[in-house]
Parts: sequence; structure tokens; C-alpha cells
Amino acid sequence: MPTCQSCGEKWTWGQTIKNIFRLKCPYCGKRQYESASSRKNSGLFALIPLLILPLNVWLDFSIGTASILIVIIAAIIIVFIPFILEISNEEEPYV
Ligand SMILES: [Zn+2]
Repeated sequence: MPTCQSCGEKWTWGQTIKNIFRLKCPYCGKRQYESASSRKNSGLFALIPLLILPLNVWLDFSIGTASILIVIIAAIIIVFIPFILEISNEEEPYV
């Protein structure tokens, strides 16, 4: 779970989900940024739904089954984001 670099408070899972787009600390109100290493991790997570495509060809899913799978996987990813998200006080450049 991310910890605010400004006030040191640990965000709960619910607070992280609520603040996922603007990353504003619910305790001190300071804007936080996703750290460079965390961005790398969440980028990898974002690639997971793409794995469905080859799987789809292999197992011969219908479009309906494939879209349900993608929705389920997207939901699982959202559930896990607070656990992998790391935040920093400043926007870190890509390395
Ligand atoms: Zn804070």
C-alpha cells in the first residue's frame, strides 16, 4: 500500500482506489506522483490483458467469453494496483 511522502501516512486500499487518478493524499491533501519504479510495474500489469489475445486463438474462445475474461482480468488488476503502487513527492523522470 502506498505511503504519503509528505505526511508519512499509509493509505488504505479504499483510499488508494478513490485517489488512483489524481493521487491526492487523503490525510494532508498534497498531490503525490507515481514513482518511476512503480510506473514500470504498473506498465507490466497493463500488458496482462494483451496475453488474452494469443490465449484466445489457442483456446478458441468466442468474442463474448474473451471480453468477459478481459473484464475479470482488468478487475483483478485494479484490486492489485494499491499493493504495487509506490508514490513520491515529485514527478520522477523516466529512467
Ligand atoms: Zn499526506
